[in-house]
Amino acid sequence: MPIGGDAPIAIQSMLMSHTDDIKNAIQEIKRLEEAGCEIVRVAVPDESAARSIKKIKKEAKVPLIADIHFNHKLALISLDSGVDGLRINPGNIGGPDKVKEVVQAALPRKIPIRIGVNSGSVEEDLLKKFGGPTPEAMVESALRHVRLLEDQNFFEIKISIKSSNVIDTIDSYRLLSQKVNYPLHLGVTEAGTILPGAIKSALGIGILLYEGIGDTIRVSLTAETTQEVRAAYEILAGLGLRKRPGVEIVSCPTCGRLQIDLVSLVTRVEKRLAHIKVPLKVSVLGCIVNGPGEAKEADIGIAGGNGKGVIMRRGEIVKTCREDELEEELMKQVEEFVTGVK
Ligand code: SF4
Repeated sequence: MPIGGDAPIAIQSMLMSHTDDIKNAIQEIKRLEEAGCEIVRVAVPDESAARSIKKIKKEAKVPLIADIHFNHKLALISLDSGVDGLRINPGNIGGPDKVKEVVQAALPRKIPIRIGVNSGSVEEDLLKKFGGPTPEAMVESALRHVRLLEDQNFFEIKISIKSSNVIDTIDSYRLLSQKVNYPLHLGVTEAGTILPGAIKSALGIGILLYEGIGDTIRVSLTAETTQEVRAAYEILAGLGLRKRPGVEIVSCPTCGRLQIDLVSLVTRVEKRLAHIKVPLKVSVLGCIVNGPGEAKEADIGIAGGNGKGVIMRRGEIVKTCREDELEEELMKQVEEFVTGVK
């Protein structure tokens, strides 16, 4: 999985399952792979978790990153278990000698290390110097750790400096990007539940990507992990950087002109089309004011009317039917469109 340079922006998530609950961990990885996740990070809180990586690796297609805090031995065991990358916060794994041990073990294996600084993990002296976990403090903390690795001739480095504050996150990455050329892993940490978390992430990650900053992203949500992947694709697709792996639903917000039960129709349609993995744009509009116009941009579209609606393919009306027939007719049209079979 190439990260950085001209490589596509890679999408990451982090397992909710305990790493030593191997069965559930593998099932979650499969769901993430199915959703289009390209890198999966696993928490390594103890030696048992570090050893479990070996078994999980046998089933996982995506690269696995071991997330290490406090104990450098967990990084060493994870490397022995065949992990594909490490995420460490060098400030909390026991000093430069321990970092050196980890780097010396990663170097011959060509295993990359992400230096992950969070606003909550900035060292005391930097907090004092800058008056808190400011962007300048986070960047200096990250650069301090980068030097520790570079001093050992280790350059397979990625860096993240996440804050739960969107503006601080943007300012920190902007500053960091002026100082280093290493690939940057973007994210707004502890962003919250789906709606606020996705919005904060879209702002923080989206603004940076739009400025050409960032190489891999993780949307942090207090939600099922596949939602993180979905949100990540929405951000990348919105910026024209990647395509969604599946159906994009364009639906109207509804208004007083609405004459069909659009909200429940869109909810059902979205669920029923979730299995389609080819890029497809489906528009579901409440009335003919915007319906035909939007449908021209979509592969398949519906525009509702008075207890009835029209089905369109690339903006051409192909059928008019009753409201209670719209959903099935739409499914039929999508099936024909995707398979090319009438
Ligand atoms: Fe209202 Fe029609 Fe626009 Fe939907 S498409 S918001 S129903 S005007």
